[in-house]
Amino acid sequence: MKPRGGYNVNLIGGPSGVVEKLSPPEKLCIPLHSRHLKFSELRVADGDSVSSGQTLAVDPEAFSVPLLAPCGGTAGLSRLDGHIVIENLNCPPDPAPDPELPTHVPYDSGQAAEKRRKLLELGAWQFVSNARTHQVADPDGTPSAVIVSTVHLEPFVARGSAICTGSINELVRGLEHLQSLLEYQAIHLVLPNVKLELAQDIQKTIRGHAWLKLSEVPLQMRYPFDNQTLLARHLGLFTEGDETVWFIPAAGVIAFDRALTLNRPCTSRIISLAGPVVKDPLHLEVPVGYPIDKIIAGRLTQDDNVRVVNGGILTGTQITEDQAGIDTECSGLTVLETPTVREMFGWLRLGCDRRSFSKCFTSTLKKAFGENLSTSLRGERRPCVACGQCVTVCPAGIMPNAIHKYLFSDELEQAQRLRTDLCAECGLCSYICPSKIDLYDELVRAKVRIAEELGPPAEEPEEQAAQENQEEDVA
Ligand code: SF4
Ligand code: SF4
Repeated sequence: MKPRGGYNVNLIGGPSGVVEKLSPPEKLCIPLHSRHLKFSELRVADGDSVSSGQTLAVDPEAFSVPLLAPCGGTAGLSRLDGHIVIENLNCPPDPAPDPELPTHVPYDSGQAAEKRRKLLELGAWQFVSNARTHQVADPDGTPSAVIVSTVHLEPFVARGSAICTGSINELVRGLEHLQSLLEYQAIHLVLPNVKLELAQDIQKTIRGHAWLKLSEVPLQMRYPFDNQTLLARHLGLFTEGDETVWFIPAAGVIAFDRALTLNRPCTSRIISLAGPVVKDPLHLEVPVGYPIDKIIAGRLTQDDNVRVVNGGILTGTQITEDQAGIDTECSGLTVLETPTVREMFGWLRLGCDRRSFSKCFTSTLKKAFGENLSTSLRGERRPCVACGQCVTVCPAGIMPNAIHKYLFSDELEQAQRLRTDLCAECGLCSYICPSKIDLYDELVRAKVRIAEELGPPAEEPEEQAAQENQEEDVA
């Protein structure tokens, strides 16, 4: 795939590399839903005593991926809608790192099927997704290749460097465990730069590296070329049209090591706390279910008129009163201001301080600069003005504006014909749209609806479809 589109989203307020471990709260509020998972099958009853690592619920639609208790305590099912609350917490401290731990995974480290089951039970399998659908991968499936990525380009989400720093042995053992699950398939390790110290350390440490291929993100780290679907296409892993490619972030590989080397459940996450109204944006290590109000308390420059987003600013979702704690897929919290006063004569400004994808502001004459983010960044919602910017920026080579038009008139077949299925779910079209149309949400929902109601598109290889769309676009 020849990379196209993308944008260097440059916003002020990204997290520093500091990782702070928060002490246990008074209670955990564990959401039963996250972006891709729905833990609808409960395994505990109201008032049960639970122990650390115990399965609280599973997602029957996602190979029974479990929701695990990060700490022991008393489970409450009726305290908070859509959550399991754990009170009277008993959180065992993580034992100190064992200096005797081997650097490598023993050759006779067990059967692949047994290891896959253990990864599922200990909560590490939830990090493995199908690069085409972004859903949890089948633990009994056979991928044609695996991508492991240390790169997160979406502004404000937890950075790969913060997750990997100081964890080189865990990363190397995790990669070796991953390799032991496969037969001959290559693992593509994606780094910002293959000459980085981290890449060299991995190459020096890993045992036999013919199976590990180092790759860089195309287009000089421009968003969204860290996206799993785009990486698979860029690496040429989707040639036949039906290949299964697994995608695992670096945090997932470290979780593999935790589960298989240490036999411990994966119940904590390294998340970012960032955005323009966070005093000192940083990374935090927290158990799943940590109350969000406790995380942000005292860390903001203002307490009113703020919006908290679960995840990055392009693909995250606004946190409402329906979510009280960190969910199991959380990569960060982004906090931004919601201005209450309309900007006077905003239309008169020449835009020296506004970056613009369309190069229509005078800021185009300035050197690259970080932009201040607020909920009014792109003005107000309007109908599509047919500017075509979403088509130019879309890295998947599809036409979000035309798909939007067909979805608006409920012409699902036409949306399918325009290959909505190729959407890589990056959110860039929504971000740059001057009319603030939520194309991302529309396309992601339509992708699911088309797959359920119409099935796969009349087969045309992905590369060809994207190419044809680009040619139509140029014409
Ligand atoms: S960027 Fe927005 S306004 Fe422009 S063509 Fe696309 S949908 Fe329409
Ligand atoms: S249509 Fe999909 S792939 Fe294209 S910019 Fe929008 S979200 Fe990204």
